[in-house]
Amino acid sequence: MGRKPKNLVQHHVRRQKLKKILQAPKGMPDILSEDDFYRRKIFRTVENLADYYNFDRIETPILEESQVFLHGTGPTSEIVQKQMFNLRTPGGDHLSLRPEFTPNIIRAYLENGLFNLSKPIKLFTYGPLFRYEQPQRGRFRQFWQYDFEIIGDEDPIYDALIIQLFYNSFLDLKIKDLLIEVNTIGCDNCRPLWHKQLKSYFHSRLKKLCPDCQRRYKTNILRILDCKNENCQPLKENAPKMLDYLCRDCHNHFKTLLEYLEELGLPYAINHTLVRGLDYYTKTVFEIRETTDNLALCGGGRYDYLTEVLGGKHTPAVGAAAGIERLVDVLKKRQPKQDGNYKPKAFLVLIGDLAKKKGLSILEMFRKANIWIAESFGKDSVKSQLRQADRLGAPFALILGQKEAMDDTIILRDMKSGVQEVIALDKITEELKKRFKNGIV
Ligand code: AMP
Repeated sequence: MGRKPKNLVQHHVRRQKLKKILQAPKGMPDILSEDDFYRRKIFRTVENLADYYNFDRIETPILEESQVFLHGTGPTSEIVQKQMFNLRTPGGDHLSLRPEFTPNIIRAYLENGLFNLSKPIKLFTYGPLFRYEQPQRGRFRQFWQYDFEIIGDEDPIYDALIIQLFYNSFLDLKIKDLLIEVNTIGCDNCRPLWHKQLKSYFHSRLKKLCPDCQRRYKTNILRILDCKNENCQPLKENAPKMLDYLCRDCHNHFKTLLEYLEELGLPYAINHTLVRGLDYYTKTVFEIRETTDNLALCGGGRYDYLTEVLGGKHTPAVGAAAGIERLVDVLKKRQPKQDGNYKPKAFLVLIGDLAKKKGLSILEMFRKANIWIAESFGKDSVKSQLRQADRLGAPFALILGQKEAMDDTIILRDMKSGVQEVIALDKITEELKKRFKNGIV
């Protein structure tokens, strides 16, 4: 061995040890394996639906120029007023962590010239979003959504397609107690008249409204309608309904959408107070709820003016997003994890150094044969390895000791009966396949 270079010998690492263990930011929990099991199920469902309905994937950055949301989500929305995580870069740019997907997708649609492609453009994505909210059950500061958007067509059949797609995503996840709540909030032609009626209706009731609604009366009167405060509920009951003020175009749009939903046999109810929290919605708005715990699983609607607001040409569009954590919550409760499909087919038990040396290549041999086997390479005792095989519910153990490693054989142990057989190593994948095919397990 040559001498170590002087600077390496003398180099002394100065580690500053913290006195306490740090925590993740409030409302931003780590995602551990228990949740990941359900999340992957959700992602697989989403990917399958995207393939079937022909949506292309889009990934936008987690940070956007704040303007995207100030203009897109809208200055009077709760998100922009209270829930944005904003930062200033060393270069002086104002950026925000994305609180939703739609404005960024439209920004990307414009920036990348996707409007030149044949319309409508169908895009989907999933990923983390950030809102500064009071964390509670089902409400986080970092949470995930999956999102589908159809850009460039005003036909209500696309509103129905988006609703159908989200409804099917829940059905595919075996959530069946669902209700679609749907409403229309009109367009720039008819909504001002409804606004006027709402203003005069709530004017005489202003003092009875909660402080938030008193503010909403001035900034965005529609939001009074989806206030959750108990005291405001009776005041909303007789409020003027958009349905009574719709222009012909919006009326026909809503009527046709409902006909599509009827045709599909989807369970829906018109909710006159559903307006959704964002400034950009026009015509259709909807939410899908699971009815056992009355949780809103997804929400969306039509946003025909957003592309113009963000600097493009008039481009009607419709989309929606579903919250992944809420879905995980629902799935966890209803579908406990011991799912037969997630058991390894066999468990590899290695005894001694020689066997251990062969362990990785045996694992690779099974991967190539498309047979899922589990292992615990670090454990030495046979007992603890077999105990783990049992805990994972593997129907077989594959035991490799010194003798088998030398003979190129392996012991196949039936975990239930304890019966063991010696099999040639190069025949073992075939043998296992045969046993599964013959329904022995
Ligand atoms: P929104 O983007 O507010 O329309 O919400 C659509 C869906 O995302 C909701 O129905 C929830 O499932 C989910 N969601 C919204 N905000 C949060 C949050 N802070 N934490 C967890 N899930 C959320």
